[in-house]
Amino acid sequence: MSTTPDAPTSPTIEQQCSASALSNITPIPIPLAVIDANGNIIDANLALGALCDRDVDELRAMNLQTLIWGQDFDRYRDWLGEALENSGPRHSQRMCLRLADNSQRLVQLHATSWQGDPLMTQLIVHVEDIHERAHAEATLQYQSDMNKLLMNLSSHYETVTLEEVDRWLVEALCTIGTFIGADRSYMFSVSPDETEISNTHEWCAPGIEPQQENLQDIPMEAFAWWMETLRRNETINIPRVVDLGEEATDERDELIEQGVRSLLVLPLIAGGRLVGFTGFDAVREERTWPEEAILLLRASNSLFTSALVRRLMDSLQESEERYRTVVEDVRSVIFRIDENGNWSFLNKAWEELSGYTIEESLGKRAVDFIHPDDHERITGAITEIVSGVNDVGRTEVRAVVHDEVRWVEILGRSLRDSDGNVVGYSGSIDDITERKLAEQAADEARKEAERSSQAKSEFLSRMSHELRTPLNAILGFSQLMEMSDLGAEEAENVSHISRAGEHLLDLINEVLDIVRIEAGQMSLSLEPVELGALIGESLDLIRPASGELNLRIQTSLGIHHELWVQADRRRLKQVLVNLCGNAVKYNCEGGDITITCSRLANGVIRIDVTDTGIGIPQDRIDDVFVPFERLGAERTPIEGTGVGLTVTKSLVEAMGGSISVASRQREGSCFTVELPAATNQTSHSLVELPPSNRTAPVNGKNLALVLYIEDNPSNATLVRRILAYRPQIGLLVATEGMEGVELARMQRPDLILLDLHLPDMDGAEVLRLLLAEPDTKGVPVVMISADATEGQAKRLMAMGANDYLTKPIDVTQFLTTVDHYLKNRSKGKRAS
Ligand code: ADP
Repeated sequence: MSTTPDAPTSPTIEQQCSASALSNITPIPIPLAVIDANGNIIDANLALGALCDRDVDELRAMNLQTLIWGQDFDRYRDWLGEALENSGPRHSQRMCLRLADNSQRLVQLHATSWQGDPLMTQLIVHVEDIHERAHAEATLQYQSDMNKLLMNLSSHYETVTLEEVDRWLVEALCTIGTFIGADRSYMFSVSPDETEISNTHEWCAPGIEPQQENLQDIPMEAFAWWMETLRRNETINIPRVVDLGEEATDERDELIEQGVRSLLVLPLIAGGRLVGFTGFDAVREERTWPEEAILLLRASNSLFTSALVRRLMDSLQESEERYRTVVEDVRSVIFRIDENGNWSFLNKAWEELSGYTIEESLGKRAVDFIHPDDHERITGAITEIVSGVNDVGRTEVRAVVHDEVRWVEILGRSLRDSDGNVVGYSGSIDDITERKLAEQAADEARKEAERSSQAKSEFLSRMSHELRTPLNAILGFSQLMEMSDLGAEEAENVSHISRAGEHLLDLINEVLDIVRIEAGQMSLSLEPVELGALIGESLDLIRPASGELNLRIQTSLGIHHELWVQADRRRLKQVLVNLCGNAVKYNCEGGDITITCSRLANGVIRIDVTDTGIGIPQDRIDDVFVPFERLGAERTPIEGTGVGLTVTKSLVEAMGGSISVASRQREGSCFTVELPAATNQTSHSLVELPPSNRTAPVNGKNLALVLYIEDNPSNATLVRRILAYRPQIGLLVATEGMEGVELARMQRPDLILLDLHLPDMDGAEVLRLLLAEPDTKGVPVVMISADATEGQAKRLMAMGANDYLTKPIDVTQFLTTVDHYLKNRSKGKRAS
């Protein structure tokens, strides 16, 4: 085959050059230079100037080596040497050119010997621009390497067993991380509830610090922008972490904190949901990853997703396994009942509880296991679950197991289909027989405690009665004697009896108070009490005694009349009378008593009772509230029992308050009571003092008839003597209950005085009969009893008694009461 002579063929560089003079390389459109044996550029053309971004004249003054990058100098020199030695064939070498702006460009230098000047060796150099081609080649190579790598990972993954998945994941992160030149690569998985992420696998280049431990259970909401981007299945490619925008400040701060400078993160999406992500960090320097790397990483992510899902499935299976083991291991019976009410699942615990095997029980009626008497109860519980009243039902029933009756607790819930129809039940059964027995024992103990408390209270009532009955006679008769004409000496003797009796009465009352508080029998009715009035009433009671010592009493009434405390009015009065009484008793002639009240910041009202009396020795002050301690007062003429302050303290504390004392011998004492302030200030504590009309005569011409039902002759005599001061009153006495009721019916008295303890029946029973009888039900009944307990009085008043007087009889009070009911008699209606 011959070529046509005029056929266009591309001329070789040599042809082009030989066809023109040296000076003629200039128009040739390929970059050319003519150099001498030392590399000095003798000539260069415009195309070379354009490639190097320099003037041709500038080039002509340079050595070719200065156009080469330093790292290629050795190669350049080798190339030049060879080109000079072997004239003829072309010598080519790939090299990096330094452009005027210091950037690089990949070129291929081709050299051909040139005989332009016969006197010197010259080379003509073709500087071929292979930059684009080399880049494309490199990319292709990169892709091919990456493909190979992925193929390897993928084929390896195919053979990986479940146990090996974790190891495979770390190896894959290492391989890819190394390949793309990352400093760290990792995988995160999203928690099943899609609220947290955790770093599950990590690879770090040598010298790079791992972060996995710090990156567990991180709330996804902390990195909202990051998560949103990944959820959209977008890659996060951040060449410069510091440039992250406003929307990602949290992410930026966290990454900077970890020392991450550039990063690449790819989502792992399964079933349309974000299940995790892979990431590649640059820590040592900022990095820009090529686009093809990102594309290929995205391809690799399908492997990571698959591995992650495999792991998740595995852990689900594992938890199912674990669940089964737990169900088998628990001591409670776990059950399922089908829609026909038959057992459809039972765990091992069933066999122990019931004594039946699981096999023989499955398919049998569940209710047969319940004691017949409790079928109704279990049906009720099931109805509540089915009707939706309760989501989970709990019931305690008896079960027949191992031929005995045991108590079981059943917790159950309904199982429903997608339409909400009940298709069965599931739940647990526990043997609670021991607990039930313990509860029964506790119940028994509580009842026993109640019984013993009841016994205590009966004892108190009895004691009170037994002690007061003889005192009644002592005090009553001595009062009567005081009222009669006595000689001076006799009068003094009687007054001794009286004082001793009163002292004994105080003592009994106080001791009984203490016993009552300790036995929990002291019932307090706490209500808002206004202090001004109460202090006024208390001071009225001590004023006569204070007058004897010429004491000045001051109260900060202007302030305290507005103060309200939460207290039992009667008991607080007892406290105040006690403290004020002591302030009088232990004062000195002409001394002072001051009562001040103030409101403290913490909702507490403070009452100070201060005196200028004898004071308490410093070393005895701790014993002030100890029962029967009189701290030396027993050696003085001042009367006392040493119990008043003990009662006072108990009462204050029972009302939720506290009491303290500050005292100096020979200077005086200050007792401080603190009580809670009342929040609701109603006026029902403003109780009027009882009238003190000591001598009110009965207003009427007719003889009034009083029936006294009392078995104790000395009590009857006492009342007879007292009523002798009311000549217009006739007295009838019945010594037994039934006799009293009979007398009342026949005689229609104007007033009945009724003792509580009668030989044939209880006073309360007599009261009931009197109230039931038409002839007697209109007659006022005043109970007279030695039983001073509050409960007793309340009970009888509630039954219909008109009044309740306690023995020992206070003559004045007795007469006032009798006068009151007889006065109302004249109005022809029953007094109240
Ligand atoms: P008493 O019946 O002896 O007064 P208290 O329990 O009321 O019993 O008081 C106990 C003791 O505390 C008294 O005996 C007395 O020594 C001392 N005491 C009580 N109040 C005062 C007071 N205001 N000033 C000095 N001593 C007091």
